[in-house]
Amino acid sequence: MPQREVMERVLGRIWASARILEDFHAICATGGRFAGTESERRAVAWLAPRLAEATGAPVRREAIPYRGWTRGPAWLRAGGAEFPAQALGRSPATPAGGLTAPLLDMGRGTPAQMAAAGDAVRGATVLVRHEYMLGTGHMHRRRKYEAAREAGAAAFLIACHEPGLLPVTGSAGDGGPGNIPCAGISAEAGAALAALDGQPVTLVTQGSFEDRSAENLLATVAGRGPELVVLSAHIDGHDLAQSAIDNASGLACALAVAEALRDIVPALPRGMQVGLFNIEEWALLGSAAHLANMDDAERTRRVLNVNLDSVAGEAGLTALTSGVPGMAAFLRAALAPAGLRLPVAEPFFGNSDHANFLRHGIPALRLAAGYDLPHSSLRFLLTPADTPDKVRPEQLKHAAAVAALIVLAGCAAPVPPVPRMDAETARRVTTPQA
Ligand SMILES: [Zn+2]
Repeated sequence: MPQREVMERVLGRIWASARILEDFHAICATGGRFAGTESERRAVAWLAPRLAEATGAPVRREAIPYRGWTRGPAWLRAGGAEFPAQALGRSPATPAGGLTAPLLDMGRGTPAQMAAAGDAVRGATVLVRHEYMLGTGHMHRRRKYEAAREAGAAAFLIACHEPGLLPVTGSAGDGGPGNIPCAGISAEAGAALAALDGQPVTLVTQGSFEDRSAENLLATVAGRGPELVVLSAHIDGHDLAQSAIDNASGLACALAVAEALRDIVPALPRGMQVGLFNIEEWALLGSAAHLANMDDAERTRRVLNVNLDSVAGEAGLTALTSGVPGMAAFLRAALAPAGLRLPVAEPFFGNSDHANFLRHGIPALRLAAGYDLPHSSLRFLLTPADTPDKVRPEQLKHAAAVAALIVLAGCAAPVPPVPRMDAETARRVTTPQA
């Protein structure tokens, strides 16, 4: 079949589908999918047969052992008042009665600020600010946490960037030795605490560690040759809401793309693997183990990763290419026949599964909505406001349409559409700026 007819068939299927919205709501109905919870197990139990149906292929359930963590209550006492808090993922518990230390307001809390503060950080409970996650110059909370920990801080607090009494969450340490108690608080609590700079605050975080296992779900629609384009989305989220934008949106789109391409890919030069990765919110553990567990020959079969993470909640999408050589030109060529174009952002974002593909030299991109739009609904990521009402059906369909065209072009190209990266290039594109 000529390429244009194939493209029209694929886009027609996606735009005419009611299923994408049903899938999105079914995934949201499983809950926030925090790794290790009943909600995450419900999501995996729902996704496995749905992925098999969407791909028409058997689903491999890949068990990934990891150090699990159960979140307990957290709060702060300061200046005679009490503030609610959310322990960040894998925070150690504070001693009985809490951890009391002087508050040090570090503002944004960059590593450079920590270095400049010198000895003042030692023994303090450091307060920093969370940032809009999808913007140029974003600094991830983990870098701030690591800088505070290395400077000898006793505890780490991060205040939400968004007003509305929304405690922010996320993970920080790895649960290993030397980790310090860490918690997210609302913007309002952050402002109240900042007024208490230098005064003692008492932080209580509870939580317990346990060895667990989580499952990645993988299904492959074979093409004519051994090579694969990997379409990915992460399963897990946080337990403050339904993790609707991040990442029920990506999961629903991945299923729609698979369904639209499943009978087309077998005639193309390379196949499509759908990888639904788990424990992404915990420093990308699921995809890291997936890629580390395969031999070089298996990794070499994977020529492109298209990662869908937070693809709705705002009109339009951006391709986060990390500056992978050849990627922007490939995307232009893949989308131009349908009259579509994507803005490209080149800074490296290490906070989704495509980062692990890049580290192995596999060309990878992430599609995301709301890039450099701090007033979009993407500002609610990692808060109790990441709820299904933020996502519109046409946003899901646009994201699925764009992803399907990219996967289709990747599978149809006579040779791998973007050159594999050597170790030096892979290192360069995965180095955070500033
Ligand atoms: Zn995500």
